[in-house]
Amino acid sequence: MTETDLRTHAAEIHEQFAERLDLTVEEVHGRLDTLVNEYKVPTSEARRSVINAYLDEAGMDREELGGGGNERKVISDVETAEEWIDLTAKVVELWEPRSDAVAQVGLLGDETGTIKFTKWSKSELPSLEEGGVYDLRNVVTDEYEGRYSVKLNRTTTIEALDEELEVGDDTAEIEGALVDVQSGSGLIKRCPVEDCTRVLQNGRCSEHGEVDGEFDLRIKGVVDDGERVYEVIFDREATEELTGITLEEAQEMAMDALDTSVVAEEMCKRVLGRYYRVVGPTFGRYVLADEFDEQGAPADPEAVLIKARSM
Ligand SMILES: [Zn+2]
Repeated sequence: MTETDLRTHAAEIHEQFAERLDLTVEEVHGRLDTLVNEYKVPTSEARRSVINAYLDEAGMDREELGGGGNERKVISDVETAEEWIDLTAKVVELWEPRSDAVAQVGLLGDETGTIKFTKWSKSELPSLEEGGVYDLRNVVTDEYEGRYSVKLNRTTTIEALDEELEVGDDTAEIEGALVDVQSGSGLIKRCPVEDCTRVLQNGRCSEHGEVDGEFDLRIKGVVDDGERVYEVIFDREATEELTGITLEEAQEMAMDALDTSVVAEEMCKRVLGRYYRVVGPTFGRYVLADEFDEQGAPADPEAVLIKARSM
């Protein structure tokens, strides 16, 4: 536990009580410091205990506290990365962490949907239990390929709630014409660093610099159901099925042409303007194509495309 973390907590707690109690950041820090450094209480517990003491002192209920400056959000409203928020959520699933740096990883849910969470080992937070409902304060949002997640860190506080929470279904089913294939589709290369897998731009990972990428296939498509447009992501397996082009074939095409863009061009020829039914989870503005089938060729693909372009 670094000194900076305690200072941050102290400043946040001070701000929460500034209007009701005559406190200094120094006093709050002193209390936290005693609990954490003398009594070896985990920081999140210390924070809770100090807050409870001040709540008593001020004669306030927990509900009267602001979130420490954070916005309380429902999961479907998480649409920005690197935002500090508070959530009430149920642990829907716990997954096996793939790295020692991660203490727990899994899926959180509320009435509006689900979101992946990661709890860092170094955060020293208490364990979340599958099926448990928690009040999570000071979690930070993250985004990867349009999928949002939240990270629980050293400044996060976790409070187990004795209540039920109905987890909403965030699966989308859409039927419409595939009207656009966005850049970044076709044969792509991903960063080979474990747990990174970012798509390389000109052989570079935004995090790890120049690396030997690994080939992958993907389509970021736009499906128009007549009322609105959806951005649909087809992963390698889905892209192979959708286009009939395997990863190996795509690599051969690119080698023959000395150009990877021929793959996306060929894919466009095969899928643009066709009608699909797509089912899959939504992540922010994206739908992941877990399941899809073609709805028969449109009567006039050109008309669909002209309509799409005019929007
Ligand atoms: Zn990387």
